[in-house]
Amino acid sequence: MKKYDKLIFELSRPGRKGYQLPADKFETDGFTDIPSNLLREKAPELPEVSELDVVRHYTNLSNKNFGVDTGFYPLGSCTMKYNPKINEEIASMPEFAGLHPLQDASSAQGALELYYNLQQALASLSGLAEFTLNPYAGAHGELTGLMVMRQYHNSRGDHKRTKVIVPDTAHGTNPASAMVAGLEVVEVKSKPNGSIDVEDLKPLLDDTVAGIMMTNPNTVGMFETDILEIADLVHKAGGLLYYDGANLNPLLGKVRPGDMGFDIMHINLHKTFSTPHGGGGPGSGPVGVAAHLVNLLPNPRVRKAEDGSFFVDTDKESLGSVSTFFGNFGVMMKAYAYILSLGRDNIKNVGPMATLNANYIKESLKDVYKLPIEGVCKHEFVFDGLTDKSTGVTTLNVAKRLLDFGFHAPTIYFPLLFHESMMIEPTETESLETLDEFIEVMRRVAQEAKENPELVKSAPVTTEISHPDETGAAKNPILSYKALKDSQK
Ligand SMILES: *Cc1c(COP(=O)(O)O)cnc(C)c1O
Repeated sequence: MKKYDKLIFELSRPGRKGYQLPADKFETDGFTDIPSNLLREKAPELPEVSELDVVRHYTNLSNKNFGVDTGFYPLGSCTMKYNPKINEEIASMPEFAGLHPLQDASSAQGALELYYNLQQALASLSGLAEFTLNPYAGAHGELTGLMVMRQYHNSRGDHKRTKVIVPDTAHGTNPASAMVAGLEVVEVKSKPNGSIDVEDLKPLLDDTVAGIMMTNPNTVGMFETDILEIADLVHKAGGLLYYDGANLNPLLGKVRPGDMGFDIMHINLHKTFSTPHGGGGPGSGPVGVAAHLVNLLPNPRVRKAEDGSFFVDTDKESLGSVSTFFGNFGVMMKAYAYILSLGRDNIKNVGPMATLNANYIKESLKDVYKLPIEGVCKHEFVFDGLTDKSTGVTTLNVAKRLLDFGFHAPTIYFPLLFHESMMIEPTETESLETLDEFIEVMRRVAQEAKENPELVKSAPVTTEISHPDETGAAKNPILSYKALKDSQK
């Protein structure tokens, strides 16, 4: 039977503590060093527990969680790859972690050099002129990049360009960012194979087009082979091309968005460049631009002087500031450590390995799971549920059943092109043995669906909770201990 873990508030006993402050600084009856006007009048309502209680509390919580460090996590479009631990060690170096953002540049040369070198590395990996590392996440990078796009047209007096073309398969943040940037979203249809329909695009390209947002490989993991023609058409119409590089790993070292004709892009450092993510942890969404857009990038900028030193600069034409100071510096340190530890040659293997792993799973399962788009995929692909639909077992059931075998589920019911979408992305960091185990379990679930569909539909049976009321949780969330107690009255 599962033990009920008490909440930390239920463990609290008045006066119990798990720490001791230095007696010479803090008297037992008060904080002598802190001015009285800064002291609380009433003690905060925090749980009072021993060190052991705290250790068990956090260890038990972490055991309830599933992460890349606990098992295979093939969540398509999210690039849940292994994040080498040396990155964390580097990011916590006190020489960097202890810096203050307002300290003088002369005493923060190492940090500025890292910022500068990382933006140079991203520029050379993506074929664009320069990057800003200031945005905090992918969606924030999209917003920043679209502000560059708008600023570019406005600075040329071309005010009527307010339309952004977005494919119907785009990540949800694309149209959302365009709206927030004050631009109007126009959808372009995909062909049955998931790529952009050039014939559908042509009539949309008039003098109100600010640009197009794309990702390549696209959301179904296929490379847009018409990209050079699309780039040409959009540029001739006066628009700019925006590249969603959240998942750059399929291309890393092989193809560069700048060479495909893209003018602006963002990269998710917390997907492609190995920072743990999910659950709202800190991210970073650097934005790169082609040479003619460089001075529109947000302030502050980091530049290198002729004597080799680094300084903080601001540009007059810049769209302004999008973050406090320089963004999430710790994430940049992890990305930099990752790039340097792979090196110029090994980084070229990232894309091919991600591609090989995805194709291996796809080809090994396509007789039992329906593959709507044939052909070589890049880092991810989409199944449209089980091939045999007569069992009544859905994509949701398969996803839940995978949890019983210790695997995270793939992304499900996205993209919306298919009714039973199951989007699988193994990433480049998984071994052949792990891929084989996943394939074996996927085949076993397909077999169970035929022989005992009720078993699959009742899954998961080994997890903490089985079938939560997701709608109820979204509509009436219970987010605090007090709310929980009230709901139990
Ligand atoms: C994750 C992702 C984003 C958004 O990134 P966030 O850091 O979550 O804001 C945008 N586009 C694609 C394709 C993504 O996978």
